[in-house]
Amino acid sequence: MRLLDTLLENNEKFVENKDYLNYQTSKTPDKKVLIVSCMDSRLTELTYKALGLKNGDIKQVKNAGAMITHPYGSTMRSILVAVYMLGVEEVIIMGHNDCGFGALKPEPILKEMHARGVSEEVINTLMHSGIDVVDWLQGFDSVEESVAENIKIVKQHPLMDKNVPVHGLVMDPGTGAVEVIHNDY
Ligand SMILES: [Zn+2]
Repeated sequence: MRLLDTLLENNEKFVENKDYLNYQTSKTPDKKVLIVSCMDSRLTELTYKALGLKNGDIKQVKNAGAMITHPYGSTMRSILVAVYMLGVEEVIIMGHNDCGFGALKPEPILKEMHARGVSEEVINTLMHSGIDVVDWLQGFDSVEESVAENIKIVKQHPLMDKNVPVHGLVMDPGTGAVEVIHNDY
């Protein structure tokens, strides 16, 4: 069976068995916090278990590297919407050790793009129209520095509520242990 069919079959059973009753909650997060974290699949359930969270407790924005790539991109927009409209009173930027995106260099991604049919010309055209694809695909050398940098972007954002603490954590994907990079209380 192909993946989507399996998922749909699982879903049918889930709804039929009324398993959703275990997850019912409201739109506003009970713990009034938004966590920006990496899309790393090791962290999906681990984040909740390691921090003692359950469904409905947090707003979570996940992307490659837990990064805010642009002050007016979708991650920052999500933070602002959560703060002003969804009852979020604190933000946590949570990177993790052994991050696949952090370690990634643009060259292998570009090489893979070429191999799958994206022409050199497309890359050049983007570069010439002001989209620095190479820089955009650049990971980071230090997760601690990356978290600190992202905290700065949120705290210095002109549209951000200055009373909202923005903390920084780094999680170990093996043990779930977190290191505090910045405690903003
Ligand atoms: Zn990661």
